[in-house]
Amino acid sequence: MNYKHIIMLLFTGLWSVNIFAQPIETIKAQNDLYFVGDRTYSCFYITNDGVIVIDPLDSTHAAATMKAIKKVTNKPVKYVFYSHNHWDHISGGKIFKDQGAKIISHIKAKENITPNPKVLTPDSTWNGANTTFTYGGKTIELFYYGKNHGEGMTVFRFPEYNAIFIIDLVVPDRVLYAYLPDASPKNWVAHLKEIQKLEFDKVYMAHVRAIGTRDDVTLMQNYFDDLYEAVDKALKSDTPFFEIPTTVKMPQYKDLMNYEEWLPMNVWRIMMEKAIGK
Ligand SMILES: [Zn+2]
Repeated sequence: MNYKHIIMLLFTGLWSVNIFAQPIETIKAQNDLYFVGDRTYSCFYITNDGVIVIDPLDSTHAAATMKAIKKVTNKPVKYVFYSHNHWDHISGGKIFKDQGAKIISHIKAKENITPNPKVLTPDSTWNGANTTFTYGGKTIELFYYGKNHGEGMTVFRFPEYNAIFIIDLVVPDRVLYAYLPDASPKNWVAHLKEIQKLEFDKVYMAHVRAIGTRDDVTLMQNYFDDLYEAVDKALKSDTPFFEIPTTVKMPQYKDLMNYEEWLPMNVWRIMMEKAIGK
């Protein structure tokens, strides 16, 4: 074992006890609407008859969300919504199900969950482009646009607060996630345009920063539009195809997190979509 191994062991050890992790915090966004997380957030909404959770996240986050709920109410969790089919949002549902909650998702999310023993299958699903869920004197409007960031992605609107929870469709302050795994970029950008037609002035998000505004949606939209334009321009230029990802620059976004590391991957994803249609 040399010094590199020792340093690596030390780092993995520190990581496993979460020395570097940000603590999980509870954010009171509204009187009865909370977000719980570190860089990834779940949501809970307290109604007159029980609590609604949106996204359990993994089992660690789900336990933290349960603890946060118990601090502010003794009402049980009655419903858990899955926002979409990705494991990082839905693998911790057991703690809520065990105390009697019912799990709900859009049918397309349920149909497209890659089997994982930790991910519980939704008890019921909803269909179509939109519906309204009313429980305990509270209303949540649900919107589905099609495949975009993932499958069965639901946008949740809280009419009481003129707010939407947009989950992963807008991640603030950062370029798009790596190579956009499992995404349909062209649908995603089209759906962002549709979502902006909804009525809202507050935006809640599942990663990096939970609370934002319409400006966060606009920035994401502009980033996508500029990315497509930059890729189109590069494809029409003399730059060899395989050199495009490292030569495309969008300096107006250089202050976004992961700009240097992920912009080339973002570019690859758009090039691939243009090359194979998906
Ligand atoms: Zn996702």
